[in-house]
Amino acid sequence: MLRRKCKNDEEIVAVIAHELGHWKLNHTMYSFIAMQILTFLQFGGYTLVRNSTDLFRSFGFDTQPVLIGLIQFQHAIIPIQHLVSFGFNLVRRSFEFQADAFAKKLGYGAALRAGLVKLQEENLSAMNADPWYSAYHYSHPPLVERLSAIDESEKKED
Ligand SMILES: [Zn+2]
Repeated sequence: MLRRKCKNDEEIVAVIAHELGHWKLNHTMYSFIAMQILTFLQFGGYTLVRNSTDLFRSFGFDTQPVLIGLIQFQHAIIPIQHLVSFGFNLVRRSFEFQADAFAKKLGYGAALRAGLVKLQEENLSAMNADPWYSAYHYSHPPLVERLSAIDESEKKED
């Protein structure tokens, strides 16, 4: 019982080491700045087209209500948003690998491995999604990819 508890504690510390990796590597700050820039670009882009009569007339509006214009603009840029969110996911996933590597560098590779498996079991999420599907939809890499990245860096060290 005690032995099992100790093991659990080490897995928890390993997950915390992963989260500290995000902090140490400034991932939170980069994400925050990226979101601010994106918001600025969205509203900045809207100010470029908000006086366009075509934007409103195309949808049957004779007047130019600001809120309607903003909604139309947001719908018009959905294809761009898909590309941006794909790019963000690629970056976020690389952050996850970096944070895993950080925890491993602190000596928690095996405990992180066990902890990730346990979290996966409890969350009942997909174990090994299609790489293209997961690259587009998931902000976190699937477990199999993370574990193999941890194992690969272990091999390099041997
Ligand atoms: Zn993470």
